[in-house]
Amino acid sequence: MAKFEEVKNGIIFPAGEKNEAYAQYFIGQSYLKTLVADPDVNVGVGNVTFEPGCRNNWHIHHDGFQLLLVTGGEGWYQEEGKPAQFLTAGDVVVTHDGVKHWHGAAEDSWFEHLAITAGTPEWLEPVSDELYRTLEK
Ligand code: MN
Repeated sequence: MAKFEEVKNGIIFPAGEKNEAYAQYFIGQSYLKTLVADPDVNVGVGNVTFEPGCRNNWHIHHDGFQLLLVTGGEGWYQEEGKPAQFLTAGDVVVTHDGVKHWHGAAEDSWFEHLAITAGTPEWLEPVSDELYRTLEK
């Protein structure tokens, strides 16, 4: 049984629906609840929930940034050329403009973060099983 099963129902904010719109950029199943999508506000806010093993592809936020606020479970954040950071509830990650990175769940745990995002994403290659399996908490 995976850890933090309760995360699948949403911690604080609802988990939302299956993340079909971005499914092509993820390995595994994620869920998305859009919390702020206001044309007069230059950031979007979403609650993203990852099943165990789920992670997004390498990507870059161009002409913007991303703030991840971890609300539940266990997961990972990694910038290219740096060690992966293990994440748990209460962790905060800042991704600057132009930095290639990925984020997602640990192999044995549900994971959830709020994502506050500005700019335009560029989606790149998947995070290989080879890399993902070598991550150590
Ligand atoms: Mn990102």
